[in-house]
Amino acid sequence: ESLGPTITAGEILVEIMSTSVGNGFLEPMPLVGPFPSGAPAIFVDQVARLGGAAGIISAVGDDDFGRLNIERLKRDGADVSAIEVLPDAPTGSAFVRYRADGERDFVFNIARSASGQIRMTDAARALISRAGHVHVMGSAFAIPGIGRILSEAVASVKARGGTVSFDPNVRKELVAGQGEAKKRFDEILSVADLLLPSGEELSVAAGVDEEEAAVQALLSRGLSEIVLKRGALGSSFFSRNDRGDCLAFRVDELDPTGAGDCFGATYVTCRRQGRSPVESLRYANAAGARTVTRQGPMEGVSTFAELDRFVEENRLEA
Ligand code: ATP
Ligand code: MG
Repeated sequence: ESLGPTITAGEILVEIMSTSVGNGFLEPMPLVGPFPSGAPAIFVDQVARLGGAAGIISAVGDDDFGRLNIERLKRDGADVSAIEVLPDAPTGSAFVRYRADGERDFVFNIARSASGQIRMTDAARALISRAGHVHVMGSAFAIPGIGRILSEAVASVKARGGTVSFDPNVRKELVAGQGEAKKRFDEILSVADLLLPSGEELSVAAGVDEEEAAVQALLSRGLSEIVLKRGALGSSFFSRNDRGDCLAFRVDELDPTGAGDCFGATYVTCRRQGRSPVESLRYANAAGARTVTRQGPMEGVSTFAELDRFVEENRLEA
């Protein structure tokens, strides 16, 4: 990590969730929250909890939802200097409710929140100038202008010999313009070192259906590593001459939100520390599994000590 912090840019939100299973929000119901959230924020918080230097370019409102997030990130050791506090916009929010089939319904306030107004500031430039790795979170592209910020960060980090990871993290509710999204997707793929797709994001990224063929197609486009997230089935990594698979740890899933972000943050942090892909995958699986046992997207972030203990306790099942 001699090259400097792992950084990202994107939304910070609070998440408020229904405590009952069902469809949507069309009648009064018990809710729990606010919990700190936003995929890029969860990612950065998890890197920081592992002791890695980490920072985020973002914006919150001058309200308790914003303060809650900043305090959590600060407490966990993340660099919050590039989070702008906007006086005239509320902090972003997401209401979420699980359906019986495991699908989720959302009501988002992101586009018109502070998160929708993230811009390049002096503090953001200063963070970029120190960074050694950029993680691009697909969900962030719903924010106008975030593409330019991330491009500048990628160019700056690459010029110093740093690295780039990309989690396409496409949520159907957040995909704006299809054609535009595809173009951006291809641009990032051409500069990324590590791709972290989950499920069908792999075949979407490759434009090829079958898994092995999709992996090969993407590796031939310049990515050096692909790590595929398979939920309760675990994960796999692929490089040009190597492959590894890791079964998931067996846990009771209480709340799957944030698993992919904590998984990705742990994999990136481990690789940046020089750990092997197999060891990194195992730690990442443990981080993802721990996350789903806690309610709240950022409540299950882990330290290395917690991951080691978890792996030890679940050794026989993995
Ligand atoms: P998200 O819903 O946050 O976008 P994702 O789709 O990006 O998640 P997942 O594959 O759901 O990513 O989860 C990431 C990793 O977390 C998995 O590869 C696995 O290691 C771990 N994980 C997720 N769900 C479970 C589970 N139910 N049991 C055990 N491990 C899990
Ligand atoms: Mg995901």
